[in-house]
Amino acid sequence: MISTKIQSVIRDIHDFPKPGIVFKDVTPIFKDAGLCLEIVDAFADQLSGLEIDVVAGVESRGFLFGLMLAAKLNVPFVPVRKPGKLPFSIVKKSYELEYGSATIEMHTDAIEPGNRVLVHDDLLATGGTAVAASELIQELGGVVAGYAFVINLDFLKGSERLREFSPNIVSLAS
Ligand code: IMP
Repeated sequence: MISTKIQSVIRDIHDFPKPGIVFKDVTPIFKDAGLCLEIVDAFADQLSGLEIDVVAGVESRGFLFGLMLAAKLNVPFVPVRKPGKLPFSIVKKSYELEYGSATIEMHTDAIEPGNRVLVHDDLLATGGTAVAASELIQELGGVVAGYAFVINLDFLKGSERLREFSPNIVSLAS
């Protein structure tokens, strides 16, 4: 099962980035090309039937499978970035994180009004990042079609915050 494979390669890093935090390090996934392809296929399977016009991937680990998934679905990929990185005109949103606060930005022409956008990130924790990305998508006139995460830390109940945007929440491991 893909969840078992993912769980067998990710590792817990204690006290990163701050004391008391147990950080899931997903980087070993990217060393296994076969597993990466399986992950993209699993996303595509679980999202089949869902109308998706654009995949929005959250910096930075959300870029990795985000672009692969967009290519697989044959739709555009757009980046959701940290502040000061995007060169064109932007919209931005600040939000509270599990540890600290953050801001994300998107290009104003990233999506067309009415586009159905899939939000992708490597990991769902409290949901703050995905909520902020969803609000930006709505501000640009888009519709959140659903979410795809490699890992959902379900004890943090982030998915409960996402349901107001879309009930279509796919994750491959917890
Ligand atoms: P949230 O906004 O609390 O859901 O946090 C999710 C965001 O923080 C995503 O962009 C993740 O990449 C990152 N993140 C939070 N915790 C972890 C972790 O344990 N491992 C990897 N990324 C994490």
